[in-house]
Amino acid sequence: MTTTREEQAVKSMKRDFYEMVINGESVKGANGEHFITYNPATGEALAKVAKATKEDVDRAVRAARQAFDHGKWKRSPVGKRARTLNKIASIMRSRFNELVELEVLNSGKSLTAAQGQVMQAIEDFEFYAGAIVGHRGSVNNVPGPFMNYTLKEPLGVCAQIIPWNYPMMMAAWKIAPAIAAGCSIVLKPASLTPLTAIVLTEICHEAGVPEGVVNIVTGDGATVGAYLAEHEGVDKVAFTGETGTGKDIMAKASKTLKRVTLELGGKSPNLVFEDADIDAAVDGSLFGIFYNTGQSCEARSRLYIQESIYGQFMEKFVAKAKQLTLGDPLSKETHVGAIISEKQLEVIDSYVQSAKEEGATIVLGGGRAKVDGFEGGHWYLPTIIADVTENMKVVKEEIFGPVVVVSKFKDEKEAIQLANNTDYGLAAAIWTKDHARATRVAGMIQAGTIMINSPFSAFPGTPFGGYKQSGFGRELCIETLDLYTETKSVLSYTGSRPLNPFGL
Ligand code: NAD
Repeated sequence: MTTTREEQAVKSMKRDFYEMVINGESVKGANGEHFITYNPATGEALAKVAKATKEDVDRAVRAARQAFDHGKWKRSPVGKRARTLNKIASIMRSRFNELVELEVLNSGKSLTAAQGQVMQAIEDFEFYAGAIVGHRGSVNNVPGPFMNYTLKEPLGVCAQIIPWNYPMMMAAWKIAPAIAAGCSIVLKPASLTPLTAIVLTEICHEAGVPEGVVNIVTGDGATVGAYLAEHEGVDKVAFTGETGTGKDIMAKASKTLKRVTLELGGKSPNLVFEDADIDAAVDGSLFGIFYNTGQSCEARSRLYIQESIYGQFMEKFVAKAKQLTLGDPLSKETHVGAIISEKQLEVIDSYVQSAKEEGATIVLGGGRAKVDGFEGGHWYLPTIIADVTENMKVVKEEIFGPVVVVSKFKDEKEAIQLANNTDYGLAAAIWTKDHARATRVAGMIQAGTIMINSPFSAFPGTPFGGYKQSGFGRELCIETLDLYTETKSVLSYTGSRPLNPFGL
């Protein structure tokens, strides 16, 4: 139920109601219900959003099915699809500031983080506009007189379920390769942050994507997401979110043997060797954990420092962490934004409390933050925890907040062993000036992304995805197109005499 205060706050927005988009039309849910989405930095209601029922999911899947089975998009010339993707990107560019502001208001992230992520979303569409043109089948060597070639055919109707931490970027990572490949989709954004994904869906239609190709349903994961994952009309589920949810989705999808790609959680190590450029490593390690308020799947949340430079590194690291500014997310001076929700804030704090109870040392932060003018929001202090052991909860589990745990290592062998001592395998960072060491260690770490002396993990074109329980499939890259297509092998007999294989 919504309160009068919430209704009033929502009315003050330029746009107070966000509808779903099904079959090219903006629609309210079948039973007319809505939910409220909030500004995490203030705790205030931001907008009403249509609440999908299973009936709405059925309609969206039907629309996507109809568009895929009988529509023109999958058969349209690849150049036309590429032009449409570029048009989407160009509309996004023309509305850049509006999209950034909406992303900040709905997610609580800092302005600079949102700017970078919206820009990357735009570049994703541009990347796939180019990539799809070069995506093709093969001609294979087979014994004569036969000819074999493969066709890359669009896979079908794809359910795409995304999390709240990068709302616009995750929507782009999903939509761009799928529609470039000729698929039809039903996107489900996180119910905490649905707004920019809805606007992006509207932009797709403005750019000329035909009705039914891009649909969006808004609602909670347990009903809408779970129903999509088991829906018989869906051919593939592409999911980004927690590892536990990913396992559940995979089980549901297995009933009709849907294709599945999973981009899941992480607990990524950050290894600083004694021969590193210490200042660069300090800056990169700060960014690695506190960017996006630590709410990043690839957050470098386990910091391992070679024991000979531990003191020197920590002194600089803690001093710089103290300079991080929490404040108005719309200010370009703000480094660290809000936490997405009160529930997530409690999760983060309970991890920090568990570290204290288990005997770790809170070197910095360790509690809720007060931000002037944003008293109703959800804020947590950048937190550094030292003196941890490998079996502590804070070392083993994904916290998904601005919390880093720090330990020492003796040598390269131990660094690699510690880095791999996790069920996850999403990313890892290595700081060293020794190129041979960097290459050696990169080869030994079980993770989908390795950063060498780089605070940044990915750009459009860089494969992104997990080893181990961080999931499977790669996004953001050319190979993603293979995950939205089926490979059809065509074998053709080219001899002049009929074959009689049974010799009858
Ligand atoms: P989440 O798993 O709770 O939710 C993700 C999405 O799944 C949301 O849209 C949610 O509504 C939906 N959902 C929830 N339960 C569902 C169910 N039973 N069936 C179907 N759908 C369901 O994750 P979150 O809290 O939104 O996001 C944080 C997680 O996402 C972290 O674990 C983070 O590491 C991960 N993540 C991974 C990547 C990556 O690329 N590997 C990127 C971003 C975030």
